[in-house]
Amino acid sequence: MKKSTWQDNGIINRYRDMLPLKASTPVVSLGEGSTPLVYSSWLSKSIGEGSEVYIKCEGLNPTGSFKDRGMTVAISKAVERHVRLVVCASTGNTSAAAAAYAAHAGISCAVLLPYGKIATGKLLQAFLYGAKIISLHGNFDDALSIVRQLSKDPKVEIVNSINPLRIEGQKTAAFEVVDELGEAPDFHFLPIGNAGNITAYWRGYREYFTCGKCSILPKMIGFQALGAAPLVFGHIVQDPDTIASAIRIGNPASWRLAASALNQSHGFVDAVTDMEILSAQVQLARKEGIFVEPASAASIAGLLKCVSKHSELPIIRRLKEGARIVCTVTGHGLKDLNTPAGTGMCPIESDATVDSVRNILEIG
Ligand SMILES: *Cc1c(COP(=O)(O)O)cnc(C)c1O
Repeated sequence: MKKSTWQDNGIINRYRDMLPLKASTPVVSLGEGSTPLVYSSWLSKSIGEGSEVYIKCEGLNPTGSFKDRGMTVAISKAVERHVRLVVCASTGNTSAAAAAYAAHAGISCAVLLPYGKIATGKLLQAFLYGAKIISLHGNFDDALSIVRQLSKDPKVEIVNSINPLRIEGQKTAAFEVVDELGEAPDFHFLPIGNAGNITAYWRGYREYFTCGKCSILPKMIGFQALGAAPLVFGHIVQDPDTIASAIRIGNPASWRLAASALNQSHGFVDAVTDMEILSAQVQLARKEGIFVEPASAASIAGLLKCVSKHSELPIIRRLKEGARIVCTVTGHGLKDLNTPAGTGMCPIESDATVDSVRNILEIG
């Protein structure tokens, strides 16, 4: 008999009664979820008196992003249906998660990635987990359109967020926030790429509200990168361009669902520049000790932008009057080591003597 371990605390075992799974569905888990919700005194202070800002650190999932929450559900279902091959299009993190959970389940995985546009760490993950990697001469939106066509084959399971089970798994992050805070926050900030995650959080909050686990619903505030901001502009972006590769998407699959989450929650979507993203990434690392990939920093950049620029909006006034805010940071910083924040890094060289090191530290 196998011992009970952290793995048994994965999101399916924690929240099975809220998920569309049978009691008999096998569980493919790597112990995802239960990620830290970290109070940020830096962000709380920068917003103002009485505000509380918490950071939901999704980079601490088994493959380093929130994609694991959806993947444990999607792959468990695929195993239940005796599917032998799972396929996804990916900007990187979906492929890492799909490859890991498929490996754990002992089934095959193929991933379609836009040629030359994937952060090295993510590509290496998919490779090491043993996925078949197809590098497509096209962008993410092309890859997703091919995957949609493949999905007509019953032997193949698509594990992109167009698979509704992905959204179902990802909504558990909202449950965790409420379980820890004892209530939903007033505002929830997060980055938007394919728009599955904002859809998932909104669903999670609404379901908890319906069961009486929270008595308010947050305003959902989404941020896109300025070069890949279809929701902000209201039209498809043909050649999305941003250093934040995980949100470099011009035609989000869950566009309509995300738009209704924004609407129903009385939230909004806005864009941040690559400069703002990189600056937020560095500040979050230096002020809180939290290292996230660029796409993840879009939520923090967004919050900082709200505080500085849009202060005339009524919603921002409300935010400054003492609100409880959660920002999701979606993926781990170690996944993407090639973006400009890492360049210009210059260690101080020293002779291998105590004196030399003392000199540098100015402790003479
Ligand atoms: C997938 C991903 C996103 C975007 O999430 P969507 O559900 O596509 O909107 C943001 N950040 C990271 C790190 C991701 O992996």
